[in-house]
Amino acid sequence: MKKKLLTCIAVICAVALVAVIVADFFLNKNTAASFIAMNTTVSLDITGFSCEKAAGRIKSEIVKLDEKLLSRTNSESEIYAVNSGKTEVSDELAKILTDLKQIEKDSNGAFCAGIGALSDLWGIGTDKAKVPSQAEIDAAIKNADKWSIDGNTVYIPDGVKLDMGAVGKGIACDYADEILTDFLSDDIIDLRESIITVGGSVKLDKFGSGPNAAFNIGIRDPLGEVNEHCAVLNIAPGCISTSGNYERFFEDENGKRYHHIFDPSTGCPADSGLLSVTVDAQYGYVSDALSTACFVLGIEKSLPLLEKYNADAVFITTDKEIITTYGDTESNLISITNDEYRLGELK
Ligand code: ADP
Ligand code: MG
Repeated sequence: MKKKLLTCIAVICAVALVAVIVADFFLNKNTAASFIAMNTTVSLDITGFSCEKAAGRIKSEIVKLDEKLLSRTNSESEIYAVNSGKTEVSDELAKILTDLKQIEKDSNGAFCAGIGALSDLWGIGTDKAKVPSQAEIDAAIKNADKWSIDGNTVYIPDGVKLDMGAVGKGIACDYADEILTDFLSDDIIDLRESIITVGGSVKLDKFGSGPNAAFNIGIRDPLGEVNEHCAVLNIAPGCISTSGNYERFFEDENGKRYHHIFDPSTGCPADSGLLSVTVDAQYGYVSDALSTACFVLGIEKSLPLLEKYNADAVFITTDKEIITTYGDTESNLISITNDEYRLGELK
């Protein structure tokens, strides 16, 4: 009798152990996929039972977001239609444009979604890149900030074109986040962790790990090669975006570099003493738009904007100082990994 009981207990323990191993196997299932959209590489690294299904859905949504909504060059996109005269837009685009108009105002025009004609004129990243004449620049920026959105009606002055280049990747991160959240509410056994990378924007999520869950993310060395970091940031889940002068540029015959982030007040590549800005915010559209705006504004003028959006930033200056807005208690969030750089203080 005693022997039977012991056998029974042993069988139950073995079954429980197998169940734990199988559950753990499924929960730790991981998928790593990458594809090209929005002129950049998108990488999906998702851990959890539904990882493959989630990755498939995210891929098709990001491709659709690019082709049908935000692309400036695809004739099937809504932005293309707006730039060609369409005035009534979908609720989806109306919401995006309303949020962007607000960031334009809050950044005093440093972020400007109406900069498309200027981007086309410089052509940076294309084989037609050139330094335009002052008259051409003046014409391209004259009414760039005069576009408006009221409900679903958009007004675009003659000669102005909307350009989602500075926010599309962050918006893609927000779309991915929505899909992941959907999976969480649908399934019982679920996702554990995800890192969604769309060019310079990265959305980090840990599910069910509590408020202290953190990620280590490398910040690219703006003077180094693609995979070289100069610092590592230890941060909570959220979205981070980096804008830097190394991403797309051309050099003239004298070796002078012209990059792709423009100061809308001059119509020329921004020159605010920075090599890059990384912004950490809850939403991707905010981190992406603000990284561009802060790159234009420089450190001091960025601070009220960051505060308004409850965002933080890591600035890398042209003299290789790394300056963050993280408070004193969190100053251990960043560690320098390349000793050519040093940690500086906010003045
Ligand atoms: P990346 O595209 O390299 O991630 P950004 O997010 O900073 O970098 O976006 C730069 C792109 O945004 C440019 O290629 C251009 O299309 C557009 N852009 C450039 N300057 C501005 C600006 N001041 N405001 C809004 N969009 C801009
Ligand atoms: Mg940006």
